[in-house]
Formats: sequence, structure tokens, C-alpha cells
Amino acid sequence: MSKVHGMNPGHEHYACMVDLLGRAGQLEEAKDLIESMPIKPDSSVWGALLGACASHGNLEMGREVAEKLFELEPHNPGNYVLLCNIYSKHGRLKEADEVRRLMGVNGVRKEAGCSWIDVKNKTHIFKVEDRSHPRSNEIYQVLRKVEELVKKNGYVAETQYAVNSGEDYKERSLWNHSERLALAFGILALPPGAPIRIMKNLRTCGDCHTVMKFASKTFEREIIVRDINRFHRFTKGLCSCRDYW
Ligand SMILES: [Zn+2]
Ligand SMILES: [Zn+2]
Repeated sequence: MSKVHGMNPGHEHYACMVDLLGRAGQLEEAKDLIESMPIKPDSSVWGALLGACASHGNLEMGREVAEKLFELEPHNPGNYVLLCNIYSKHGRLKEADEVRRLMGVNGVRKEAGCSWIDVKNKTHIFKVEDRSHPRSNEIYQVLRKVEELVKKNGYVAETQYAVNSGEDYKERSLWNHSERLALAFGILALPPGAPIRIMKNLRTCGDCHTVMKFASKTFEREIIVRDINRFHRFTKGLCSCRDYW
């Protein structure tokens, strides 16, 4: 960049490189790159590394990176959620609770998740457990059908992503995530075979990601989820992100 184009790499370029290295599982190299930066790494760069730690379940580095992010941007709920997920993945529920407590101490509130989908030039917005849509009854019927079919095809809930306690209730709460309601509405309201495009204001959870993969295969539909982090394009049971995000 600097030799050929006379441009010095900025934070966004470093964040992309860290993301690439992280995707390849080269977390140490990613960290070395950050530490060699001639400019002070910002939250986008550390955030990319924390995302990589979460994807690869690297608890030690994840904790260290999260600490830096809590200092740089104490009010970004995303970092707390990622660290919480890393702890949960390792079965360290006490520490996960501790992170949630820290969120409270720092006055961070998790933004309410919502997803939206455009059908016939109208935007339909769904919150978690939303029942405000005029076609709510049909949407929940379709959603039950989706659940039944994807389970038949081998889907098993990843309850670590549910926020409530109590096993059965945990899985139930996952099925009310906003992107699933948007998916059900898409299946209901869009012409058969048309791609389903969903937007989400937060990072999509691992379990919704799995459901979307199964749904793309089961319903033979292209499903695109644009979450706060990246585009996910689901076709034939796979996602374009190759399960890294
Ligand atoms: Zn979800
Ligand atoms: Zn994906």
C-alpha cells in the first residue's frame, strides 16, 4: 500500500488484516501485527481480534483483549457479550455472570435486538418475542413449522446462546429471536423461491446462524442476513462466512 500507492494503512486496514489472520486461526500473528502498529490501535482493531478469540474459543487472549476494549469503549455492549460467550463456551458460568455484573456496574445496557425485512416496499420490524405484527399468529405457525422441519434435518439447539435460565425455557427463548420471526414472515409473505433478506442491529447469535443454515437447505431458499458485523449468505445449508464472524 505505502510503496505502490503512497498510502499509509489506517485502522480499517489493520482491522481487516487482523480479521483475515483471525479467520485463518493465526491469533498470535494477529496480535503481533497489532503490537507492531505505528499508530495506536483503536477499538476496531482490537474488536476484530476479540471476534477472532470468540470464534476460536481462545479464553486467555480473549480476556486480555476484552480488558483493553473495556477501557477503550466501556459502553459498547458487544465486547461484554463476546467475552461472556467465550466464558460460557468454556463452561465458566461464574465468570460469565461476573462480566454481566460488570456491564451493570459500567451502566451498559444491551441494546434490544431487532430484525427487519422488506416486503413489497414496506419494512417489517421484529423484536424478540414480538407479537405486534398483524400477521403474528401466522408468523408463529410458520416458525413452529420451521422448527419442526429443521429439527427433522438434524438441528440441535445451542442453548449457550440463550440468556434465560431453565433448560426448556432456554431453547424456547432462542426460537423467539427476532431474526427467526423475520425469517418466518419472509417465508410467509415473499413469493416461493425468492431470496429472503434480513437486517439485524446486533450480531446474530450462533444458534440463529445454525437455524438459517438448516432453513436455507430445508426450504431451498437463499437467505441473507446482514448483521452489525457482516453479510451472511445462506444457501444449501452453508453460509458464505464459513461459520466465522
Ligand atoms: Zn439468535
Ligand atoms: Zn455466516
